[in-house]
Amino acid sequence: MLTDEQKELQALARDFANAELRPKTAEWDERRDLDDEVFEKLAESGFLGMLVPEEHGGLGFDLATYVLVLEELAWGDAAVALSVSIHNGPVAGLIVRYGTQEQKSEWLPRLASGQCLGAFALSEPDAGSDASSITSTAARDGDGWRIDGEKRWVTNGARAGVVALFARTGDDALGLFLVTPDADGYSVGEREKTLGLRASQTVSVRLDGVQVGADALLGAPGEGLQYALDALDLGRIGVAAQAVGIGRAALEHATRYALEREQFGMPIARFGAMQAKLADAIQRLSGGHALTLEAAEAWQMGQSNGARQGVAGVTAKAAIAKLAASQAASFTADEAIQIFGGYGYMRHYPVEKLLRDAKGAEIYEGTNEILRRIIAGEILRDAGDRNS
Ligand SMILES: Cc1cc2nc3c(=O)[nH]c(=O)nc-3n(C[C@H](O)[C@H](O)[C@H](O)COP(=O)(O)OP(=O)(O)OC[C@H]3O[C@@H](n4cnc5c(N)ncnc54)[C@H](O)[C@@H]3O)c2cc1C
Repeated sequence: MLTDEQKELQALARDFANAELRPKTAEWDERRDLDDEVFEKLAESGFLGMLVPEEHGGLGFDLATYVLVLEELAWGDAAVALSVSIHNGPVAGLIVRYGTQEQKSEWLPRLASGQCLGAFALSEPDAGSDASSITSTAARDGDGWRIDGEKRWVTNGARAGVVALFARTGDDALGLFLVTPDADGYSVGEREKTLGLRASQTVSVRLDGVQVGADALLGAPGEGLQYALDALDLGRIGVAAQAVGIGRAALEHATRYALEREQFGMPIARFGAMQAKLADAIQRLSGGHALTLEAAEAWQMGQSNGARQGVAGVTAKAAIAKLAASQAASFTADEAIQIFGGYGYMRHYPVEKLLRDAKGAEIYEGTNEILRRIIAGEILRDAGDRNS
Protein backbone atom coordinates (compact mmCIF):
# COMPACT_ATOMS: atom_id res chain seq x y z
CA MET A 1 0.00 0.00 0.00
CA LEU A 2 1.60 3.26 -1.11
CA THR A 3 1.54 6.36 1.09
CA ASP A 4 0.03 9.60 -0.23
CA GLU A 5 3.53 11.04 -0.51
CA GLN A 6 4.73 8.06 -2.55
CA LYS A 7 1.75 8.39 -4.89
CA GLU A 8 2.48 12.08 -5.33
CA LEU A 9 6.15 11.48 -6.14
CA GLN A 10 5.24 8.66 -8.50
CA ALA A 11 2.86 11.01 -10.35
CA LEU A 12 5.53 13.71 -10.43
CA ALA A 13 8.03 11.29 -11.96
CA ARG A 14 5.46 10.13 -14.50
CA ASP A 15 4.74 13.74 -15.52
CA PHE A 16 8.48 14.32 -15.86
CA ALA A 17 8.87 11.19 -17.99
CA ASN A 18 5.90 12.16 -20.13
CA ALA A 19 7.13 15.70 -20.74
CA GLU A 20 10.91 15.30 -20.85
CA LEU A 21 11.69 11.71 -21.85
CA ARG A 22 8.91 10.20 -23.94
CA PRO A 23 9.07 12.79 -26.73
CA LYS A 24 12.85 12.30 -27.13
CA THR A 25 13.35 8.60 -26.50
CA ALA A 26 13.31 7.45 -30.16
CA GLU A 27 15.58 10.31 -31.27
CA TRP A 28 18.09 9.59 -28.48
CA ASP A 29 18.15 5.93 -29.44
CA GLU A 30 18.79 6.81 -33.07
CA ARG A 31 21.45 9.40 -32.18
CA ARG A 32 23.02 7.09 -29.53
CA ASP A 33 23.21 9.91 -27.02
CA LEU A 34 21.20 11.81 -24.43
CA ASP A 35 20.92 15.60 -24.38
CA ASP A 36 23.04 17.26 -21.67
CA GLU A 37 19.91 19.21 -20.84
CA VAL A 38 18.14 16.13 -19.56
CA PHE A 39 20.69 15.78 -16.76
CA GLU A 40 20.10 19.41 -15.77
CA LYS A 41 16.37 18.74 -15.64
CA LEU A 42 16.86 15.53 -13.66
CA ALA A 43 18.99 17.46 -11.19
CA GLU A 44 16.45 20.30 -10.91
CA SER A 45 13.75 17.75 -10.09
CA GLY A 46 15.96 16.19 -7.41
CA PHE A 47 16.20 12.82 -9.22
CA LEU A 48 19.99 12.79 -9.01
CA GLY A 49 19.88 12.98 -5.21
CA MET A 50 17.12 10.53 -4.37
CA LEU A 51 19.27 8.40 -2.05
CA VAL A 52 21.42 11.25 -0.76
CA PRO A 53 20.38 12.30 2.75
CA GLU A 54 18.78 15.75 3.05
CA GLU A 55 21.68 17.02 5.18
CA HIS A 56 23.91 16.56 2.13
CA GLY A 57 21.50 18.24 -0.28
CA GLY A 58 19.52 15.20 -1.47
CA LEU A 59 15.91 14.09 -1.13
CA GLY A 60 16.68 11.23 1.27
CA PHE A 61 14.04 8.90 -0.17
CA ASP A 62 13.40 5.47 1.31
CA LEU A 63 14.14 2.73 -1.22
CA ALA A 64 10.50 1.96 -2.04
CA THR A 65 9.89 5.58 -3.07
CA TYR A 66 13.12 5.52 -5.07
CA VAL A 67 12.07 2.45 -7.09
CA LEU A 68 8.62 3.90 -7.78
CA VAL A 69 10.28 6.97 -9.31
CA LEU A 70 12.82 4.89 -11.22
CA GLU A 71 10.06 2.76 -12.75
CA GLU A 72 8.38 5.89 -14.11
CA LEU A 73 11.66 7.21 -15.53
CA ALA A 74 12.25 3.87 -17.27
CA TRP A 75 8.70 4.00 -18.64
CA GLY A 76 9.84 7.27 -20.24
CA ASP A 77 13.34 6.27 -21.35
CA ALA A 78 15.36 3.26 -20.23
CA ALA A 79 18.79 4.80 -20.90
CA VAL A 80 17.99 7.74 -18.62
CA ALA A 81 16.71 5.40 -15.91
CA LEU A 82 19.86 3.26 -16.14
CA SER A 83 22.04 6.33 -15.81
CA VAL A 84 20.04 7.65 -12.84
CA SER A 85 20.06 4.28 -11.13
CA ILE A 86 23.84 3.74 -11.38
CA HIS A 87 24.41 7.30 -10.12
CA ASN A 88 22.00 7.02 -7.18
CA GLY A 89 22.32 3.35 -6.29
CA PRO A 90 25.80 1.85 -6.40
CA VAL A 91 27.62 5.21 -6.42
CA ALA A 92 25.83 7.58 -4.00
CA GLY A 93 24.60 4.56 -2.02
CA LEU A 94 28.16 3.32 -1.40
CA ILE A 95 29.37 6.75 -0.28
CA VAL A 96 26.39 7.11 2.06
CA ARG A 97 27.10 3.72 3.61
CA TYR A 98 30.87 3.57 3.71
CA GLY A 99 32.17 7.12 3.27
CA THR A 100 33.85 9.14 6.01
CA GLN A 101 32.25 12.46 6.98
CA GLU A 102 34.81 14.22 4.74
CA GLN A 103 34.03 11.97 1.76
CA LYS A 104 30.30 12.45 2.25
CA SER A 105 30.69 16.24 2.47
CA GLU A 106 32.90 16.28 -0.58
CA TRP A 107 30.88 14.07 -2.91
CA LEU A 108 27.24 13.80 -1.88
CA PRO A 109 26.23 17.45 -2.45
CA ARG A 110 27.89 17.36 -5.88
CA LEU A 111 26.13 14.12 -6.81
CA ALA A 112 22.76 15.37 -5.57
CA SER A 113 23.02 18.68 -7.43
CA GLY A 114 24.09 16.99 -10.67
CA GLN A 115 27.39 18.88 -10.64
CA CYS A 116 28.96 15.49 -11.03
CA LEU A 117 27.57 12.24 -12.37
CA GLY A 118 28.60 8.92 -10.80
CA ALA A 119 29.83 5.74 -12.51
CA PHE A 120 30.51 2.26 -11.14
CA ALA A 121 33.52 0.33 -12.45
CA LEU A 122 33.64 -3.29 -11.37
CA SER A 123 33.60 -5.37 -14.58
CA GLU A 124 36.78 -6.06 -16.51
CA PRO A 125 37.55 -7.76 -19.84
CA ASP A 126 38.07 -11.11 -18.07
CA ALA A 127 36.00 -10.59 -14.93
CA GLY A 128 32.23 -10.16 -15.20
CA SER A 129 30.06 -12.57 -13.23
CA ASP A 130 33.05 -13.51 -11.09
CA ALA A 131 33.81 -10.09 -9.62
CA SER A 132 36.32 -11.58 -7.19
CA SER A 133 38.66 -12.31 -10.11
CA ILE A 134 39.33 -8.72 -11.16
CA THR A 135 42.98 -8.02 -11.92
CA SER A 136 43.19 -4.21 -11.72
CA THR A 137 45.55 -3.40 -8.89
CA ALA A 138 45.84 -0.66 -6.30
CA ALA A 139 49.30 -0.56 -4.73
CA ARG A 140 50.24 1.68 -1.84
CA ASP A 141 52.36 4.57 -3.05
CA GLY A 142 53.49 7.04 -0.41
CA ASP A 143 50.38 8.20 1.44
CA GLY A 144 48.12 7.22 -1.42
CA TRP A 145 47.63 4.52 -4.06
CA ARG A 146 48.69 3.76 -7.61
CA ILE A 147 45.98 2.09 -9.71
CA ASP A 148 46.58 0.06 -12.89
CA GLY A 149 44.24 -2.00 -15.00
CA GLU A 150 41.27 -1.93 -17.35
CA LYS A 151 37.54 -1.66 -16.74
CA ARG A 152 34.75 -2.66 -19.13
CA TRP A 153 31.21 -1.50 -19.78
CA VAL A 154 31.26 1.48 -17.45
CA THR A 155 27.82 3.10 -17.72
CA ASN A 156 27.95 6.93 -17.54
CA GLY A 157 31.68 6.43 -18.14
CA ALA A 158 32.33 9.39 -20.42
CA ARG A 159 30.15 11.85 -18.50
CA ALA A 160 31.11 10.85 -14.98
CA GLY A 161 32.78 13.19 -12.50
CA VAL A 162 33.48 10.42 -10.03
CA VAL A 163 33.90 6.69 -10.51
CA ALA A 164 33.45 4.10 -7.76
CA LEU A 165 36.21 1.75 -8.90
CA PHE A 166 37.28 -1.63 -7.57
CA ALA A 167 40.90 -2.78 -7.64
CA ARG A 168 42.92 -5.53 -6.03
CA THR A 169 44.72 -4.34 -2.89
CA GLY A 170 46.17 -7.74 -1.98
CA ASP A 171 46.08 -11.41 -3.02
CA ASP A 172 42.64 -11.97 -1.51
CA ALA A 173 41.49 -8.42 -1.08
CA LEU A 174 39.70 -5.80 -3.16
CA GLY A 175 39.52 -2.12 -2.36
CA LEU A 176 36.98 0.49 -3.44
CA PHE A 177 38.27 3.85 -4.65
CA LEU A 178 36.65 7.11 -5.68
CA VAL A 179 38.55 8.11 -8.79
CA THR A 180 38.10 11.27 -10.84
CA PRO A 181 38.47 10.97 -14.62
CA ASP A 182 40.78 14.02 -14.75
CA ALA A 183 43.54 12.02 -13.00
CA ASP A 184 46.73 11.44 -15.02
CA GLY A 185 46.74 7.95 -16.51
CA TYR A 186 42.93 7.67 -16.59
CA SER A 187 41.62 7.30 -20.15
CA VAL A 188 38.21 6.54 -21.53
CA GLY A 189 37.99 4.16 -24.50
CA GLU A 190 35.49 4.17 -27.34
CA ARG A 191 31.77 4.09 -26.71
CA GLU A 192 30.38 0.56 -27.14
CA LYS A 193 27.76 0.07 -29.83
CA THR A 194 25.07 -1.65 -27.82
CA LEU A 195 21.97 -3.61 -28.89
CA GLY A 196 19.65 -1.56 -26.69
CA LEU A 197 20.01 1.35 -24.29
CA ARG A 198 21.85 2.90 -27.19
CA ALA A 199 21.68 6.41 -25.72
CA SER A 200 23.44 5.21 -22.59
CA GLN A 201 27.19 5.65 -22.49
CA THR A 202 28.93 2.32 -22.05
CA VAL A 203 32.70 2.70 -22.20
CA SER A 204 35.91 0.98 -21.26
CA VAL A 205 38.41 2.72 -19.02
CA ARG A 206 42.19 2.31 -18.86
CA LEU A 207 44.13 3.02 -15.69
CA ASP A 208 47.84 3.51 -16.26
CA GLY A 209 49.52 4.39 -13.00
CA VAL A 210 46.64 6.53 -11.78
CA GLN A 211 47.73 8.22 -8.54
CA VAL A 212 45.07 8.84 -5.92
CA GLY A 213 45.38 10.13 -2.38
CA ALA A 214 44.58 8.20 0.79
CA ASP A 215 41.22 9.98 0.85
CA ALA A 216 40.18 8.17 -2.36
CA LEU A 217 39.84 4.87 -0.51
CA LEU A 218 36.24 4.21 0.54
CA GLY A 219 35.89 2.06 3.65
CA ALA A 220 38.49 -0.57 4.56
CA PRO A 221 41.18 -1.52 1.98
CA GLY A 222 40.33 -5.24 1.98
CA GLU A 223 36.53 -5.10 2.10
CA GLY A 224 35.82 -4.08 -1.48
CA LEU A 225 34.20 -7.36 -2.53
CA GLN A 226 31.73 -7.06 0.33
CA TYR A 227 30.95 -3.48 -0.72
CA ALA A 228 30.50 -4.59 -4.33
CA LEU A 229 28.00 -7.29 -3.30
CA ASP A 230 26.22 -4.78 -1.13
CA ALA A 231 26.05 -2.27 -3.99
CA LEU A 232 24.74 -5.00 -6.29
CA ASP A 233 21.83 -5.75 -3.95
CA LEU A 234 20.79 -2.13 -4.18
CA GLY A 235 21.61 -1.94 -7.89
CA ARG A 236 19.54 -5.02 -8.72
CA ILE A 237 16.45 -3.61 -7.06
CA GLY A 238 16.91 -0.53 -9.24
CA VAL A 239 17.32 -2.66 -12.38
CA ALA A 240 14.13 -4.54 -11.48
CA ALA A 241 12.25 -1.22 -11.32
CA GLN A 242 13.70 -0.19 -14.68
CA ALA A 243 12.58 -3.48 -16.22
CA VAL A 244 9.02 -3.06 -14.97
CA GLY A 245 8.93 0.47 -16.43
CA ILE A 246 10.13 -0.78 -19.83
CA GLY A 247 7.59 -3.62 -19.78
CA ARG A 248 4.74 -1.28 -18.85
CA ALA A 249 5.60 1.00 -21.76
CA ALA A 250 5.50 -2.00 -24.13
CA LEU A 251 2.16 -3.16 -22.75
CA GLU A 252 0.61 0.28 -23.15
CA HIS A 253 1.75 0.59 -26.74
CA ALA A 254 0.48 -2.92 -27.51
CA THR A 255 -2.90 -2.32 -25.88
CA ARG A 256 -3.48 0.90 -27.77
CA TYR A 257 -2.45 -0.71 -31.04
CA ALA A 258 -4.65 -3.76 -30.47
CA LEU A 259 -7.66 -1.46 -30.10
CA GLU A 260 -6.81 0.57 -33.20
CA ARG A 261 -5.70 -2.08 -35.66
CA GLU A 262 -8.52 -3.83 -37.48
CA GLN A 263 -8.38 -7.16 -39.28
CA PHE A 264 -11.27 -9.40 -40.35
CA GLY A 265 -13.54 -6.40 -39.78
CA MET A 266 -12.79 -5.87 -36.11
CA PRO A 267 -10.05 -4.59 -33.77
CA ILE A 268 -7.41 -7.28 -33.20
CA ALA A 269 -8.05 -6.71 -29.46
CA ARG A 270 -11.21 -8.79 -29.92
CA PHE A 271 -9.17 -11.93 -30.71
CA GLY A 272 -8.55 -14.27 -27.79
CA ALA A 273 -4.94 -14.85 -28.89
CA MET A 274 -4.20 -11.13 -28.55
CA GLN A 275 -6.03 -10.85 -25.22
CA ALA A 276 -4.03 -13.75 -23.79
CA LYS A 277 -0.80 -11.88 -24.55
CA LEU A 278 -2.03 -8.76 -22.74
CA ALA A 279 -3.19 -10.82 -19.76
CA ASP A 280 0.07 -12.78 -19.50
CA ALA A 281 2.06 -9.56 -19.72
CA ILE A 282 0.19 -7.75 -16.96
CA GLN A 283 0.36 -10.83 -14.75
CA ARG A 284 4.17 -10.97 -15.09
CA LEU A 285 4.70 -7.23 -14.79
CA SER A 286 2.49 -7.00 -11.70
CA GLY A 287 4.55 -9.78 -10.13
CA GLY A 288 7.78 -7.96 -11.01
CA HIS A 289 6.47 -4.69 -9.58
CA ALA A 290 5.33 -6.29 -6.31
CA LEU A 291 8.60 -8.19 -5.88
CA THR A 292 10.58 -5.01 -6.54
CA LEU A 293 8.71 -3.13 -3.83
CA GLU A 294 9.11 -6.09 -1.47
CA ALA A 295 12.87 -6.16 -2.09
CA ALA A 296 13.08 -2.39 -1.59
CA GLU A 297 11.32 -2.68 1.75
CA ALA A 298 13.59 -5.56 2.77
CA TRP A 299 16.63 -3.47 1.83
CA GLN A 300 15.35 -0.59 3.95
CA MET A 301 14.83 -2.94 6.90
CA GLY A 302 18.26 -4.48 6.31
CA GLN A 303 19.77 -1.07 6.97
CA SER A 304 18.76 -1.45 10.59
CA ASN A 305 19.04 -5.19 11.24
CA GLY A 306 21.51 -6.34 8.57
CA ALA A 307 19.26 -9.20 7.42
CA ARG A 308 20.92 -10.17 4.16
CA GLN A 309 21.08 -13.93 4.21
CA GLY A 310 18.52 -16.66 3.60
CA VAL A 311 15.77 -16.67 1.02
CA ALA A 312 13.95 -13.99 3.05
CA GLY A 313 17.09 -11.84 3.16
CA VAL A 314 17.70 -8.83 0.97
CA THR A 315 20.26 -10.49 -1.34
CA ALA A 316 17.78 -13.19 -2.41
CA LYS A 317 14.87 -10.75 -2.61
CA ALA A 318 16.85 -8.37 -4.82
CA ALA A 319 17.86 -11.26 -7.09
CA ILE A 320 14.28 -12.60 -7.25
CA ALA A 321 12.91 -9.15 -8.11
CA LYS A 322 15.45 -8.55 -10.89
CA LEU A 323 14.99 -12.05 -12.31
CA ALA A 324 11.19 -11.77 -12.36
CA ALA A 325 11.06 -8.19 -13.59
CA SER A 326 13.65 -8.57 -16.35
CA GLN A 327 11.95 -11.69 -17.68
CA ALA A 328 8.57 -9.95 -17.51
CA ALA A 329 9.94 -6.98 -19.46
CA SER A 330 11.50 -9.10 -22.21
CA PHE A 331 8.38 -11.26 -22.45
CA THR A 332 6.10 -8.22 -22.69
CA ALA A 333 8.22 -6.38 -25.24
CA ASP A 334 8.46 -9.55 -27.34
CA GLU A 335 4.70 -10.07 -27.23
CA ALA A 336 4.14 -6.38 -27.97
CA ILE A 337 6.08 -6.80 -31.23
CA GLN A 338 3.89 -9.80 -32.06
CA ILE A 339 0.73 -7.75 -31.42
CA PHE A 340 2.05 -5.02 -33.73
CA GLY A 341 2.71 -7.70 -36.38
CA GLY A 342 4.95 -6.52 -39.25
CA TYR A 343 4.85 -2.95 -37.97
CA GLY A 344 6.27 -4.13 -34.67
CA TYR A 345 9.40 -5.30 -36.47
CA MET A 346 9.95 -1.86 -37.98
CA ARG A 347 12.23 0.74 -36.39
CA HIS A 348 9.59 3.39 -36.97
CA TYR A 349 7.37 1.88 -34.24
CA PRO A 350 8.31 2.00 -30.56
CA VAL A 351 8.19 -1.63 -29.47
CA GLU A 352 11.33 -3.10 -31.08
CA LYS A 353 13.42 -0.59 -29.07
CA LEU A 354 11.75 -1.73 -25.88
CA LEU A 355 12.74 -5.35 -26.54
CA ARG A 356 16.34 -4.25 -27.15
CA ASP A 357 16.28 -2.20 -23.94
CA ALA A 358 14.64 -4.94 -21.87
CA LYS A 359 17.29 -7.52 -22.80
CA GLY A 360 19.99 -5.50 -21.02
CA ALA A 361 18.24 -5.94 -17.68
CA GLU A 362 18.76 -9.71 -18.00
CA ILE A 363 22.51 -9.14 -18.11
CA TYR A 364 23.89 -6.15 -16.21
CA GLU A 365 24.37 -6.13 -12.44
CA GLY A 366 24.20 -9.93 -12.45
CA THR A 367 23.01 -12.16 -15.30
CA ASN A 368 19.83 -14.16 -14.82
CA GLU A 369 21.93 -17.33 -14.53
CA ILE A 370 23.92 -15.80 -11.67
CA LEU A 371 20.71 -14.61 -10.01
CA ARG A 372 19.27 -18.13 -10.12
CA ARG A 373 22.48 -19.38 -8.56
CA ILE A 374 22.22 -16.84 -5.75
CA ILE A 375 18.55 -17.59 -5.10
CA ALA A 376 19.05 -21.37 -5.10
CA GLY A 377 22.08 -20.95 -2.83
CA GLU A 378 19.96 -19.11 -0.26
CA ILE A 379 17.21 -21.75 -0.45
CA LEU A 380 19.81 -24.47 0.15
CA ARG A 381 21.45 -22.48 2.95
CA ASP A 382 18.06 -22.21 4.68
CA ALA A 383 17.78 -25.98 4.37
CA GLY A 384 21.06 -26.38 6.21
CA ASP A 385 23.30 -27.08 3.22
CA ARG A 386 26.84 -26.25 4.35
CA ASN A 387 28.17 -25.73 0.80
CA SER A 388 25.90 -22.74 0.13
C1 LIG B 1 24.45 -2.26 -21.04
C2 LIG B 1 25.42 -2.74 -19.99
C3 LIG B 1 25.82 -1.87 -18.99
C4 LIG B 1 26.74 -2.28 -18.02
N1 LIG B 1 27.16 -1.38 -17.07
C5 LIG B 1 28.11 -1.75 -16.18
C6 LIG B 1 28.63 -0.80 -15.23
O1 LIG B 1 28.22 0.36 -15.18
N2 LIG B 1 29.63 -1.20 -14.41
C7 LIG B 1 30.13 -2.48 -14.43
O2 LIG B 1 31.02 -2.77 -13.63
N3 LIG B 1 29.65 -3.40 -15.31
C8 LIG B 1 28.66 -3.07 -16.19
N4 LIG B 1 28.18 -3.99 -17.10
C9 LIG B 1 28.76 -5.34 -17.11
C10 LIG B 1 27.81 -6.41 -16.59
O3 LIG B 1 27.59 -6.27 -15.22
C11 LIG B 1 28.39 -7.77 -17.00
O4 LIG B 1 28.26 -7.86 -18.42
C12 LIG B 1 27.70 -8.93 -16.32
O5 LIG B 1 27.97 -8.95 -14.95
C13 LIG B 1 28.13 -10.29 -16.92
O6 LIG B 1 29.52 -10.38 -17.03
P1 LIG B 1 30.16 -10.84 -18.43
O7 LIG B 1 29.57 -9.99 -19.48
O8 LIG B 1 31.64 -10.81 -18.29
O9 LIG B 1 29.65 -12.31 -18.69
P2 LIG B 1 30.32 -13.66 -18.15
O10 LIG B 1 30.50 -13.58 -16.67
O11 LIG B 1 31.50 -13.99 -18.97
O12 LIG B 1 29.17 -14.69 -18.45
C14 LIG B 1 28.94 -15.24 -19.76
C15 LIG B 1 27.77 -16.24 -19.64
O13 LIG B 1 28.13 -17.28 -18.71
C16 LIG B 1 27.16 -17.36 -17.69
N5 LIG B 1 27.81 -17.70 -16.43
C17 LIG B 1 28.92 -17.15 -15.88
N6 LIG B 1 29.19 -17.74 -14.69
C18 LIG B 1 28.20 -18.63 -14.46
C19 LIG B 1 27.91 -19.55 -13.41
N7 LIG B 1 28.68 -19.63 -12.33
N8 LIG B 1 26.82 -20.33 -13.51
C20 LIG B 1 26.01 -20.25 -14.62
N9 LIG B 1 26.24 -19.42 -15.65
C21 LIG B 1 27.32 -18.63 -15.57
C22 LIG B 1 26.53 -15.94 -17.63
O14 LIG B 1 25.25 -15.97 -17.04
C23 LIG B 1 26.51 -15.58 -19.10
O15 LIG B 1 25.38 -16.15 -19.70
C24 LIG B 1 27.25 -3.60 -18.05
C25 LIG B 1 26.81 -4.49 -19.06
C26 LIG B 1 25.91 -4.07 -20.01
C27 LIG B 1 25.45 -5.05 -21.07
